[in-house]
Order: sequence, then C-alpha cells, then structure tokens
Amino acid sequence: MDEQSIMQAVAVARGARNIEVFTGAGMSADSGLETYRDPETGVWSKVDPQAMASIDAWARDPEPMWAWYRWRAGQAMKARPNAGHEAIAYWEGSHLVDTVHVTTQNIDNLHERAGSTGVTHLHGSLFEFRCSICSKPWRDDGDYPAEPVERLTPPTCSLCGNPVRPGVVWFGEALPQEEWAVAESRMREADLVVIVGTSGIVYPAASLPVLAHQRGVPILEITPKETDLSRIATFSWRATAAEGFPALVRRLGV
Ligand SMILES: [Zn+2]
Repeated sequence: MDEQSIMQAVAVARGARNIEVFTGAGMSADSGLETYRDPETGVWSKVDPQAMASIDAWARDPEPMWAWYRWRAGQAMKARPNAGHEAIAYWEGSHLVDTVHVTTQNIDNLHERAGSTGVTHLHGSLFEFRCSICSKPWRDDGDYPAEPVERLTPPTCSLCGNPVRPGVVWFGEALPQEEWAVAESRMREADLVVIVGTSGIVYPAASLPVLAHQRGVPILEITPKETDLSRIATFSWRATAAEGFPALVRRLGV
C-alpha cells in the first residue's frame, strides 16, 4: 500500500467509533507462538491435526492430546503480548472510540493480557478446560509441562468422573453458539473492521468479515502477505501485526 492509501486508511480509521478487530494466528506469531498453516513452521506441519484435534482421537486415546494441550497452555503463558496486542488495547482506551472489540480465532489469552476487555474466542481457549461429558469447568492448577511430553493422564471430573478435556474447538465440532452470536452482531454493528494475522481460509470464521463487507463497512487488513480476505478489504496494508497495528495507532494520534 502506498503512502497515499495509508493516509486514506488512517483517515477512515479516525472517523470510526465502533471498531471490530478480527484476529488469527499471525497476531500471536509475533509473540513467538507458531501459526498453524505455515508449511515450514506451522503447527499442522509437525502434528497431524486428526491425531491432535479431533474428538475421535480423543475418544480413542486422550493422553497424548492432554499432554500436548497442557504443554501448549504453558507455552502460551510464557509468551508475552506483542506491540500489536498492546496497540489494540491502547486504542480501546482512547477518547477516539466508543468500542474496540476483538473477535479472535486464537486460543491463547494474549489479547486479554495486553488489556483488551471485550474479547470473543471463536475457537475456544487453552485455559478453559472442562469435563468431556457433562462440561463442568475444571479449575486449572497451572501445572504445565515445561517440555513436550508424549502422554499425560487427564484429570477426572469431580461431578461425573469422566476425563477433563481442553476447551478448544476441534475439527468437526461446532463453534460455541454464544461467541458466534456476539461476533456476528459485532460485524453487523461495527463501522470499521480491522483484520489482522489471519489467512482467511478457516470457515465459518472467515465468513464473518464478509457480513461487514456486505453492509459496505470499510475493512482494513493488516497482513504481511495477500490472503483470501484481501479481496474484500478496502485497504490491505502489508505489515505484520506487531509492526502494522502500532503504526496505525501512532498515525491516528491516539
Ligand atoms: Zn463431568
């Protein structure tokens, strides 16, 4: 995007008061957490998604999955929010806006730890474990393995005795209804949508910004490479989350 387009994007962003920020793995990549779909370093290039992210695999043998998600929770806790997460929270606290809400496909808690108060997790959370049968929440003891381990036995539910499972959405599972409804209504109310760090190929999540696009709402995409959502973006700014978002907020004069 040339300088003139950046200035136009900034002017549009300055005129918006209800902002919806839609984020994906690229947002957390700048905090050292791996993205999923990068062919070299992505999570799914090393681990078979069917083996680690499906209810069938869980039913067959929960121990490798429990070990993997507990390790990932520990990794996420060690990671720190980056300048992009912080810029979003900073914008939310500024006088320029009424709301800056975040809808994320990420299962870490970096937006919350940066200070964003309205965060909707479409794909669940690494920190919301629950009973695999009765859904009773499990109180996380915070005892995460420091190194990857092959197997760990999941704790059992205090109510029904069944294994506790990670609170993330696996392949073939429905997205949480309440979160989906919030995200949809935000896409219908926002006067600006900012898309950051998502490849735009995971459905149904990727269909959300289309709702805003259909209403003619300006969409600003911040991404290092063209994505499947670039075609609906009013402005597509080539930058990583940790570079682009702070640059936007700086130019807004927040
Ligand atoms: Zn239970």
